Amino acid sequence: MSERYLELATAGVRGLKAYTPGKPISEVAREYGVSDVIKLASNENPLGPPDAVHEVLRSGVADLALYPDPSGYALKRRLAERHDVDPACITLGNGSNEVLVMLAECFLSEGDEAVFSQYAFEVYSIAVQSTGARARIAPALPAGGPMALGHDADAIIGAFGERTRLAFIANPNNPTGTWLTASELQRILDAAHERMIVVVDQAYFEYVESDEYPDATGWLGRYPNLVVTRTFSKAYGLAGLRVGYAVSDPGLAQVLGRLRQPFNVNSLGQAAAVAALDDEAYLARSRQVNREGLEALAEVCSTLGLAHPPSAGNFLLVDTGRDAGEVAEQLLRRGIIVRPVAYYGLPRHLRISIGTPPQMARLAGALREIYAA
Ligand SMILES: *Cc1c(COP(=O)(O)O)cnc(C)c1O
Repeated sequence: MSERYLELATAGVRGLKAYTPGKPISEVAREYGVSDVIKLASNENPLGPPDAVHEVLRSGVADLALYPDPSGYALKRRLAERHDVDPACITLGNGSNEVLVMLAECFLSEGDEAVFSQYAFEVYSIAVQSTGARARIAPALPAGGPMALGHDADAIIGAFGERTRLAFIANPNNPTGTWLTASELQRILDAAHERMIVVVDQAYFEYVESDEYPDATGWLGRYPNLVVTRTFSKAYGLAGLRVGYAVSDPGLAQVLGRLRQPFNVNSLGQAAAVAALDDEAYLARSRQVNREGLEALAEVCSTLGLAHPPSAGNFLLVDTGRDAGEVAEQLLRRGIIVRPVAYYGLPRHLRISIGTPPQMARLAGALREIYAA
């Protein structure tokens, strides 16, 4: 039915498949007739938004008739302090997703190439393909190894070519949860040539507890072609407000600024993000709930004999040992939404987001039931 319009679309768009979002709670409640549905499918913070945000949102309502600050002055200043850079290094986005798309639009044309890993975050391929550029996909590490299905630094470096303009490195990666160490990441940055931009996507930065994991925002002085992206959607609990950002050389930020739509981050989002940055207690609690939930889920998996890569994020990629769609369906009947990831080429895997302790207990019970049958 869409054929007629597809013909009118650009070549890049004709090659696209739409992003696969998680099922909303209301839809599952309706279709399966369950009332207390829980969603462990989109890596959202199960604690709800930070307390500090409520008051800011209430008072922000009074100004909703006005356009937001197009420069995002207050938020950029706070982020600049946080990362010890000039505010001119910050580019705000409608979620970091928008920043990723802007990077592709700014630096890729038809005939160019962008490099990312097999099993890397799905948005990279959509962003790249829509520009008409070609994706060069670096094979992931083997399933049996210690960083199963993770990014392979050597394979990524091996994929760099003369036409490569952009590399996307998800660290940690979604859906695998795997990560690259500081030295692996530096090896990639050292190997990138001058006409390349290297994007290090740190959407789960605040959750990571490994000592070898780098804060890449400290490397801008050494690597002028580095762009680091961050978000308020995950550990900061503000996915619904859509606020993300990039940290880069100010010159690169200026180029992104040419493309950026003037009011891309709404006023409530800007204000809430500033408040969330001050709520250290919320972040600490989020980390703790996540650490405990990850440990509990990993333990359930090991008693059921289900393999999973190590995860530094707020989710676990579980090899169900069978058709993951069937397991997901059985979980849905019990009111639990998780994410099958067949569209990543992983038909036996489920990506399960970490919830609150009671949610994780319910999931554990459901999994034991399903595997006992
Ligand atoms: C969730 C996610 C993002 C983007 O989230 P936004 O809500 O658009 O900020 C970016 N990268 C990865 C790897 C993610 O998982």
